[in-house]
Parts: sequence; structure tokens; C-alpha cells
Amino acid sequence: KLAGKDRYHLFDSDQDYDLRSHHESVERIRQGLLRDEFALHYQPKVNMHSGELIGAEALVRWQHPEQGLLPPDRFLPAIERHELGVQLGEWVIDSALSQIAAWQAEGLRVPVSVNISANHLQRADFAERLYLLLSLHPEVAPDQLQLEVLESSALADMNRVAETMATCTRMGVSFSLDDFGTGYSSLSYLKRLPAAELKIDRSFVRDMLHDADDLAILDGVLGLARAFRRRAVAEGVETEAQGELLLRLGCECAQGYGIARPMPPSALPGWAAGWRPP
Ligand code: C2E
Ligand code: CA
Ligand code: CA
Ligand code: CA
Repeated sequence: KLAGKDRYHLFDSDQDYDLRSHHESVERIRQGLLRDEFALHYQPKVNMHSGELIGAEALVRWQHPEQGLLPPDRFLPAIERHELGVQLGEWVIDSALSQIAAWQAEGLRVPVSVNISANHLQRADFAERLYLLLSLHPEVAPDQLQLEVLESSALADMNRVAETMATCTRMGVSFSLDDFGTGYSSLSYLKRLPAAELKIDRSFVRDMLHDADDLAILDGVLGLARAFRRRAVAEGVETEAQGELLLRLGCECAQGYGIARPMPPSALPGWAAGWRPP
């Protein structure tokens, strides 16, 4: 009985500690948002065959005053299921729309894709809020915005998500299934969610040159994309050999360090003017 009680206490204090540190990081992120410490970097998405810049993926960064530039995995998990995650998500969409407008004013028309958490997408008012954000940027056509949804995230209510996605699609916004092939229900997602694009997960691209199974999966996903008339984009393309093999398999669209690393928005127009396919 005594041991049980002690264990209870240990568990209790552990939990207190977690709650406190979690609470602190949520507060710190909230302050960061108020102090304008977040920024978006953009990674080009290209057609390796035509050399066309087909999009840019917005990737959030936190310019932390003490810790420097933090990647998303250092702060997003803390707020994933928190109201603040939705606030940051809306900030990301709003900044991306401002950026599209700024590039347009410079003469560069490039659709931007934004990553949306499953929690955010499953909010009952998601489509309504998106409509509001779009109406704040009348100079941006809704088809210049694409939303990337993690295919591997368990979408609790697929019917509702499909409905939300259909509503947004009618508004002109398109969807991409991110990290495609890594989830446990890729095929039902493909069948039931109205996404115009599949992003083939980096792990398949990384291993396809020396792992026959990964090559087979990648080839299979490309076949599915063709059959379902979805655009396939390979992520994590790092080497010329990977790019060449993808082209031979019929996958023209790609993103990765081998093409360009994520960059601050001011660098993108110059990069776009200078890039030539290998
Ligand atoms: P993701 O959506 O799969 O984004 C691609 C990640 O892979 C980015 O990391 C990018 O920098 C990295 N990457 C791109 N090309 C290569 C490559 O050739 N090799 C390797 N090794 N990595 C490459 P990052 O920016 O650290 O983002 C990590 C994840 O955080 C993203 O994965 C996405 O799931 C999430 N994320 C990023 N920004 C946001 C956001 O604004 N909102 C939400 N909800 N999630 C975000
Ligand atoms: Ca993504
Ligand atoms: Ca991805
Ligand atoms: Ca990923």
C-alpha cells in the first residue's frame, strides 16, 4: 500500500513537471508570436523536365532571441493540440498570402504551399476562417494557395475532413497529401480526400537507388498518381542520380536540397531567375 502511494506521488510530481515545462513553452511561443519572432522560409518546387518553378513550400522558423533560428520540430510539438497551434497556423497562412502578393508585385507568380496540422484542419470553422483570410488578400487568387496535409496523421473524422477539403477546393484552394506512403491508410486517403497532389515521402526517394522495395513502392505510388490524376511530387531529392531516376520513372516534379534548400523569401526571385534544370 505504501509502495503504491509512493509510486502515485512520483507519478504525480513527474506530471507536474511536464505540465509546468509545457506551460512555459506554450507561453514562450505565444510571446514569440506577439513579438513577431516567427518567419517563413520557402523551398522551391520545380518541374525537373521543363525547368519551371511550380511552387514554393512555406516552412516555419522561430528566430529565438537566445537560441537562434529554430526548426519547426523544436517548437511545433508543444502546441500541436493547443489553441495556439491554430493561431500559429493562421499566422502562417496569412504570411504566406502576403508573400504571394509581394512576389506578384515584383513580377514573380508562384503558388505557395502551406503545411496544415490535422488538428487545425479538423476544426469545424476551418473553411470559414480560410475564406476570411483569403478575403484579407483580395489581390491573391485562391488558386495560388495550396495546403499540405500530413497523410500519416490520423484524421479522426475522415468524412468531415473530406467535406472541409471539398469546400476549400470549391473556393479555389488545392490540397496535397504530404509524406505520402508512410501512413497506415494511404489508399483510403487517396480515394476519399480531394487532393490534387501527392508528395512522395523523402524516405522512398532516399532509398530507391539501393533498395528494390522502396523503388517498387515509389513506382507504385507514381502509378496510383497517374490513375487518380493527381500530380506526384518527389520530396527530399538530394542528388543528380535521384533526379535522373525519378525522371526515368516519369516523375517530373521534385523538391529537395539537391535543387534548393529552404531560403528567406527575399532570395527566391533571384534563385528562380538563375535556376536551370540539370
Ligand atoms: P515536411 O512538410 O515534410 O517539409 C519538408 C522538410 O524536409 C523541411 O524540414 C525541409 O527543410 C526538409 N527538406 C527539404 N528537402 C530536403 C532534402 O533534400 N533532404 C533532407 N534531409 N531534408 C529536406 P523543416 O523545415 O525542418 O520542417 C519539418 C516539418 O515540420 C515539415 O515536414 C512539416 O511537417 C512541419 N512544418 C514546417 N512548417 C510548418 C508549418 O508552418 N505548419 C505546420 N503545421 N507544420 C510545419
Ligand atoms: Ca510539407
Ligand atoms: Ca513532406
Ligand atoms: Ca516530412
